[in-house]
Amino acid sequence: MSEIKYPYGHQSIDEDDVKAVIAALKSEWLTTGPAVDEFENTVADYIGARHAVAYCNGTAALHGAMHAAGVAPGDLVLVPSLTFAATGNSAIFCGGRPIFADISPDTLCMSSESAEAAIASAKSRVRVIAPVSFAGYPADIEAFRQLSRKCGAALIEDGAHALGASRADRMVGSEADMTELSFHPVKHITTAEGGMVLTDSDEYATRLRMFRNHGIARQPMKIGREYDGPWDNDMIGLGYNYRLPDICCALGTSQMKRLDLFVARRREIASLYRKLFADEPGVTLPPDCPGHSYHLFVIQVNAAIRRAVFEFLRESGIGVQLHYVPLHLHSFYRRNFGTKEGDCPVTEAYSARAMSLPMYAGLSDDGVAYAADKVKEAIAKFSR
Ligand SMILES: *Cc1c(COP(=O)(O)O)cnc(C)c1O
Repeated sequence: MSEIKYPYGHQSIDEDDVKAVIAALKSEWLTTGPAVDEFENTVADYIGARHAVAYCNGTAALHGAMHAAGVAPGDLVLVPSLTFAATGNSAIFCGGRPIFADISPDTLCMSSESAEAAIASAKSRVRVIAPVSFAGYPADIEAFRQLSRKCGAALIEDGAHALGASRADRMVGSEADMTELSFHPVKHITTAEGGMVLTDSDEYATRLRMFRNHGIARQPMKIGREYDGPWDNDMIGLGYNYRLPDICCALGTSQMKRLDLFVARRREIASLYRKLFADEPGVTLPPDCPGHSYHLFVIQVNAAIRRAVFEFLRESGIGVQLHYVPLHLHSFYRRNFGTKEGDCPVTEAYSARAMSLPMYAGLSDDGVAYAADKVKEAIAKFSR
């Protein structure tokens, strides 16, 4: 295999980031220290959410959110099939059962019509509706809010792709009951591994904090029985060790200083791709909107040549990826939940045609031009 010169995503680390991490390493606290609060406050202020609770990764953050929403055995959790496994898996961690909605081809996010139909045919309680702001396109939270009100579900946005995205002047993370973020290196900012849940609810925030720390309460107010003294602590519920270390949080706070630059560069790259593909009928461009934060740049090509184009690009040093194999078609889901081909036709058609091109803040204009040229070359070569 040839060397990948342009991966689909990559972190941007500068000297200030390195200094911030070193300072944290030399500080009193490697974990559960002040860098955690600082990072949480920085993200909460940026987004305009009352609470931010850091987790050791985005998947754990989703697990915390599903727990805080009360997902229990037998509950249904509505997710789009076009997502990373973590969105559905986190419901299963709590004993919930994922049910799937299709996407809208206009946004690549969960279709509210499909969501409504899935809720109407649900055989037990839908506890959570979990839209994904796919690729950084802000999902229509207002539409899902109406659905969630009707069926009494909580609204958890999987915003792992969408830090810095906005819809009508509201940042992703400020609208749903809870919004999960991921700080994996390919995402908008990184803490190596890391995640967060944003919420305006004091009650959810309390549950989220407890859940990431073994379910243990220390404050006299929160202890479930009579307070015994300053040594006392009480495990109120089952929790995990899902904490994010200070070292990671220091990196996150440093990265947040450049988030606006990162998002601006991603938008620039997206418009460059659009210009370069304007005369290429073999490429279907991704949906656009002003608040899009472009975690991914996904194109679609004729399904009959997708594999050849994909392999050609990999051989040309371009680390194209598929986001995603539809979640309902993974073996685990088929086996355990009886899902099958045809359940989400728009997602399936998209997934047969899609690939993600290089998209990250450190990508040069030359890199964009090279990737676009190679896509066009491949389409010309294999469309004959
Ligand atoms: C990245 C991502 C997550 C969380 O992933 P982690 O690697 O656990 O941080 C969740 N959902 C989606 C859609 C993602 O892309």
